[in-house]
Amino acid sequence: MKKFFDPIKLQKWSNEQRLAGKKIALVPTMGALHDGHISLIKAAKKKGADEIIVSIFVNPVQFGPNEDYDAYPRTEKEDAKKCSEAGATAIFFPTPQNMYLENHSVYVNEEILSSGFCGAKRPGHFRGVCTVVAKLFNITHPHIAVFGQKDFQQAAVICQMVRDLNFDTKIIIAPIVREKSGLAMSSRNNYLSPEEREKALCLSKSLQCAKTIIAEKKEISWKSLKTKISAIIEKAGLKVDYVEAANAKTLTPLMKVKKGDVILLAAFCGKTRLIDNAIM
Ligand code: AMP
Repeated sequence: MKKFFDPIKLQKWSNEQRLAGKKIALVPTMGALHDGHISLIKAAKKKGADEIIVSIFVNPVQFGPNEDYDAYPRTEKEDAKKCSEAGATAIFFPTPQNMYLENHSVYVNEEILSSGFCGAKRPGHFRGVCTVVAKLFNITHPHIAVFGQKDFQQAAVICQMVRDLNFDTKIIIAPIVREKSGLAMSSRNNYLSPEEREKALCLSKSLQCAKTIIAEKKEISWKSLKTKISAIIEKAGLKVDYVEAANAKTLTPLMKVKKGDVILLAAFCGKTRLIDNAIM
């Protein structure tokens, strides 16, 4: 597995691979890799990628001033080992300094899909995400890029960016990988104490409960379902940041929920902000 630190060197190598007829896949991550990330590498392999580039970069531009940029887990050695074992052929560890040169002043902003949910709660977050992903696309020129459904809104925003800015990259969205307990895997689960991990199960449980109700009732008013979901989360001692239902394609908020719609949520488990979602 090749290791790159310099965007220019990776860009040169990636261009050479493309010219040699190789199919290039990009898997963007912030590291502290878990089986959710590994599933993205495997999805790239399944799509027939010859070169699978995993980027590991805690992107400062997508963090707010009071968020966990400094505390975010950084486990580069272990990450490299996991990438290699999973079949990645290149790993990219840029630094904030070589990704954002002095006086960096160009940003990519998606203006509709990123306005609600996490976008409303984390101002500037998706501007940071779009900017770094656009840069990674320009550095690696991938034929495909794999993202997780775990970040449902992010995947939708990236698909919109690719469409609106004519990126020549196909976006693959891989399903959420969960612990056996149901907890969605996340690098931020590293922050949780054993007791908090137990409490955090209320998130997947609340989504499962919503699924069961919708399977029975076909269609239900969002107001009453939202109350039930919020009650499950709050009863476990978490603080709801948002719970919303939306059309899974357009992310338009809904008054009535039915099969195929998505429920998205974020909640604080102690100081840790966790997100989860499920398509009904
Ligand atoms: P992150 O390192 O958290 O920025 O995530 C990098 C990529 O991995 C994103 O596309 C995430 O959606 C995806 N991802 C994170 N957790 C999971 C999970 N539990 N299952 C599937 N994909 C995931």
